[in-house]
Amino acid sequence: MKSFALANAVLALVLCLSGCIGAPIALTTQTEQRLQAEAPIRFLLTFDDGPSASGYDNPSRSVVADLAHNPVLPGIKAVFFLQTEAARSGGSSRGRKTMEREYAGGHILAFHTATAFHTNHRWLSNTELESTLTQGAADIASITGAPPVLVRPPFWNYDRRTFAAYQRHGMQVLLTDLSANDGKIWGFNGSPRRRANLYRQLSVVRERIALDELPTVDGVIPVVVTFHDINRYTARHMQEYLQILLDSARVNGMKTATEPFYTDTAALQRAALARTVKDVNEAVHLPGVWNWVWDADSH
Ligand SMILES: [Zn+2]
Repeated sequence: MKSFALANAVLALVLCLSGCIGAPIALTTQTEQRLQAEAPIRFLLTFDDGPSASGYDNPSRSVVADLAHNPVLPGIKAVFFLQTEAARSGGSSRGRKTMEREYAGGHILAFHTATAFHTNHRWLSNTELESTLTQGAADIASITGAPPVLVRPPFWNYDRRTFAAYQRHGMQVLLTDLSANDGKIWGFNGSPRRRANLYRQLSVVRERIALDELPTVDGVIPVVVTFHDINRYTARHMQEYLQILLDSARVNGMKTATEPFYTDTAALQRAALARTVKDVNEAVHLPGVWNWVWDADSH
């Protein structure tokens, strides 16, 4: 019945993508009071699946340019979870140059895949997993001079074995609080309900902050946000997304830090590391219905 449960969960996910975004959780007086004791939030931007190797209007490079120059806050630094060996990504000379440009721009290069495709690490044998982690770490170190300290498992999926392998390679798992739901994996490019989606998700995070569940780092509470820089829609709307995040905080009654995004690479890394999964048994919040998909898989 395992595969039946998984198929049902996947079906639910696909249906859900077409519009199961609820309204934001209403702000109660109690939550409002609890928030007053909490630090302001700062959005920690992350990008998955890049770099783009496109020679035409490269979306990853467009994102890097918009983070550096935009009306909201110039000089934003982000974490890029890279596909270092995929042919249309880091496994090409243009992709590699894009990663070099990201590093030169003060961004953090982190690990996502080092296989030809966006492969789930749990489906790899011990030998394949070991070699993909070694390869990915070497690919990134050849640009930055040091192996990556952050990993985002493809499909947000890890188990005891893959988690331990990440740890052996000095990589900590960073999940996310908010997802722009702009992954291309399901064939959706646009994200027409992106505003409603982010408002709703941030209201859920706000409730967790009010319960003091998120750490304060350097005087702010980092809120991790995930985009896909290979998505042209995302790249075209990057500046607008920055404003939508600020609006999301405002409509949810949340204070943002004076600098609402990270502009310092070292501070960005401290914040990201503070938000990593410390223990494989930790209950985690995955975006969308992924918790449901992987729970079905493990039953
Ligand atoms: Zn991915």
